[in-house]
Amino acid sequence: MLEGISSSLQKALGKLRSKGKLTEDDVQAAMREVRLALLAADVNVKVVKQFVDRVRERAIGQEVQKSLTPGQQVVKIVYEELTELMGGSQERLRMAAKPPTVVMLVGLQGAGKTTAAAKLALSFRRHQHRPLLVAADVYRPAAIHQLEVLGKQIDVPVFQLGNQADPVDIARSGREEAIRQGADVVIIDTAGRLHIDQPLMDELRRMRDALQPDEVLLVVDAMTGQDAVTVAESFHQHLGLTGVILTKLDGDTRGGAALTVRAATGCPIKFVGLGEKIEPLEPFHPDRLASRILGMGDVLSLIERAQEAIDLEKAQEMEHKLRTAQFTLDDFREQLQQVRKLGPMDQILKMLPGVNKIKGIENLQVDERRLQRIDAIISSMTKEERQDPSIMNASRRRRVAMGSGVTVREVNQVLNQFEQAREMMKRFAGLGKRFGR
Ligand code: GDP
Repeated sequence: MLEGISSSLQKALGKLRSKGKLTEDDVQAAMREVRLALLAADVNVKVVKQFVDRVRERAIGQEVQKSLTPGQQVVKIVYEELTELMGGSQERLRMAAKPPTVVMLVGLQGAGKTTAAAKLALSFRRHQHRPLLVAADVYRPAAIHQLEVLGKQIDVPVFQLGNQADPVDIARSGREEAIRQGADVVIIDTAGRLHIDQPLMDELRRMRDALQPDEVLLVVDAMTGQDAVTVAESFHQHLGLTGVILTKLDGDTRGGAALTVRAATGCPIKFVGLGEKIEPLEPFHPDRLASRILGMGDVLSLIERAQEAIDLEKAQEMEHKLRTAQFTLDDFREQLQQVRKLGPMDQILKMLPGVNKIKGIENLQVDERRLQRIDAIISSMTKEERQDPSIMNASRRRRVAMGSGVTVREVNQVLNQFEQAREMMKRFAGLGKRFGR
């Protein structure tokens, strides 16, 4: 995500980082590069100018000259200003004092509105809410059906009245239906057009006036760069947006939209979409994105993901087993599966600070297939074998290799590694006892 701007900004600032003393020329030269990096990332020209002026002013000022590590101090200023540019702190959704909370999603066709509606519904469900999806996109063929399919996939009810009904009526009836069902959040997928036009805006405005939604969120495609910003300005003018969902930030977008939307429209980005798969929407954290862009890692997001994916009780049980050396292959497999739930390994690694500076990391491919094979090997063993791998004689090993489609050598490797790990744990557990734990 945003690799281009990330590497060019890091390059521009890298030269400063190590300097013990900064001259005004050093700062000027670095700021020229920062400016080019932002322009190349398709950040709005006016926004770039303001940004660079602010950073330069601070970088030449007292704050830096007095600091022991001037170079680092400039990096910190850029980080703070980038964070500020994107809105400062995370903006959460407004929830109605008296449910249901009504969220209206608007945007142009193809921006990812329907996908975002399902992802948002899933986020709510994960947080113990009861969402209802309302299909009010009556123009795009198959939009209603698409929402129904997605709803089924994530087990969230979808309300619709077909594509002949008036969208405003659909939205109103949808809210009534939510109250009847006891749903506490209503997410309305509205119609988009290929271009902004008056009839679309009029219809959306009628809906907004009729429902008085708690949130009017614009869904825009980050890949469209500055167009996304123009679209946001126009929607905001007509409807008064409460926030933006920036989709397709997973692609090779240059990042201009993410960095400009807030500054240009005053509307906060509340969520980002990172793929076609229906997973909960990622809340937008300006500080974390700024730190990721500057190569400071994204440990917080990683921790949050881990918290969502890993079952705390199981983790504690596992820790106890490790300490008391009762760890079996069953446990090993389970742990492997938990870690894999975090997402692709190479993506996780790249979130760690400093990792993206390792040479060749962009070409790193963690062998997911090997992890799969380990899983298959353990799954091919009987319960008894998993509890006590010492009974794995040659013929059992051959059977497991056949069953999981790998070589006997690979089975041996996995068993040896497991045995070594267990030996080590036993020793640690012994130590723990000696020190009275
Ligand atoms: P709508 O017309 O605004 O309702 O758009 P859709 O939700 O149908 O999305 C249009 C296309 O974009 C679909 O092919 C989606 O799978 C894809 N899409 C939506 N969100 C994302 C995203 O965050 N990342 C990527 N890569 N594709 C997305």
